[in-house]
Amino acid sequence: MTYANTQLFIDNQWCDAAAGETLPVINPATGQEIGRLAHARIPDLDRALAAADRGFATWRATPAAERSAIMRRAAGLLRERADEIASLMTQEQGKPLPEAKVEVVSAADIIEWFAEEGRRAYGRIVPPRNLLADQRVLKEPVGPVAAFTPWNFPINQVVRKVSAALATGCSILVKGPEETPASPAALIRAFADAGVPAGVIGLVYGVPAEISEYLIPHPIIRKITFTGSTPVGKQLAALAGKHMKRATMELGGHAPVIVCEDADIELAVKTGGGAKFRNAGQVCISPTRYLVHNKVKADFVAAFTALAKGLKVGNGLEKGIQMGPLANDRRLAAMQQLTENAVAKGATLATGGERIGSTGNFFAPTILADVPLEADVFNQEPFGPMAAVRGFDDLSEAIQEANRLPWGLSAYAFTGSLKNAHQISHALEVGMLWVNQPAAPWAELPFGGVKDSGYGSEGGTEALEAYLNTKTVSIMCV
Ligand code: NAD
Repeated sequence: MTYANTQLFIDNQWCDAAAGETLPVINPATGQEIGRLAHARIPDLDRALAAADRGFATWRATPAAERSAIMRRAAGLLRERADEIASLMTQEQGKPLPEAKVEVVSAADIIEWFAEEGRRAYGRIVPPRNLLADQRVLKEPVGPVAAFTPWNFPINQVVRKVSAALATGCSILVKGPEETPASPAALIRAFADAGVPAGVIGLVYGVPAEISEYLIPHPIIRKITFTGSTPVGKQLAALAGKHMKRATMELGGHAPVIVCEDADIELAVKTGGGAKFRNAGQVCISPTRYLVHNKVKADFVAAFTALAKGLKVGNGLEKGIQMGPLANDRRLAAMQQLTENAVAKGATLATGGERIGSTGNFFAPTILADVPLEADVFNQEPFGPMAAVRGFDDLSEAIQEANRLPWGLSAYAFTGSLKNAHQISHALEVGMLWVNQPAAPWAELPFGGVKDSGYGSEGGTEALEAYLNTKTVSIMCV
């Protein structure tokens, strides 16, 4: 199985860092070093910034239809290369190969949607009060963007940002995830091979804080976009605010799953439960707090436990594997701590709760039942293959619990009643709610959270707005 070393991408050149520094890349299934990546320092960032500035001048002057055609070519290349790129992703991130391939192919779909929508980034004409005036509202690209993306979806987290930037005429400098660098680099390569001009996209890796502290205040950068944890998001948003930079923040969550008395339990377990273990639970919209009506709780926990026990956990490159390792050993330690804490506080361990083997970051799919509200797992984002279940008697109790935490990213509900669905959809403080189905975050739907889960959207027409300035122009005919 081949795995490429990763270089920086600056001014349409793949290059080593000026100082020649590199970092190791570890396969989380084996614990072995599989490659190296170039580690940027300030001189590299300066080159990348100057290129982004020039790239912006070129790209904003490129007609939207031409930008769209180049983006569509990139989507095509990504589809052609999906098998090869998925293999890189599984080796560096751990997710099973079929999941990695879905991520690559979905990225092509996202690029195509933004490529189409970029042709419709219309302004408008506003009827004037003085008929000699011509009042226009223009939409203009905000300028060079700095993007910071995490390791859980090495391509998906990059592609939403790059596609929105490119569709609107912005250039973008990505600080990619150091733990999973090769697959996002393959995404950027598809754009470069499709004909994106020099400087429009840059890719760097290094020390995250060093890079963000340099790029965010830099006068060339006009917008920040970050996906990652809430504490880091707050730091970066504060820095962006200090320098009056536009910002989009896609942060953590702790998604409630409300299972009502009248729910289809089989559906709730298959979709709401099954989704828990996708990408080993390292998903910002992963279902985490299962609030289940007491009359159906025992059946739900029994079926959910059977599902978790039946999952085939192992190296994601092997056939039939349904859940891979955790992407890094920090998550392994967190899973152990959350389990011990919940059990000490009185929860029942229905299944899992321990590391599998001693090689690689494998952790058993874990279900904790009757979890007290004070347990850490009900208050900290687990970001791993862990579900916490507790009962409720009245829907208002479940809604109150769903809204209790500071996050507000996604939520799920299962019910056979329109009345319940209506009540839940109005009461929950979240950016996204899925009822009687798993998450379906298509490119055309807004994607983002409220409260501590951040602001802005990475989907739908709202995602384009985030990369556009609005300019009012009124021309009086004299
Ligand atoms: P972390 O907070 O150390 O890092 C999260 C991400 O932010 C990483 O990609 C990291 O490179 C980046 N980062 C950290 N400090 C930064 C800085 N000063 N400037 C720029 N980028 C910076 O956490 P972690 O251990 O890597 O991940 C665990 C937590 O991160 C999870 O609990 C989860 O909440 C969050 N997370 C969320 C998402 C998401 O999709 N929203 C993705 C990955 C991680």
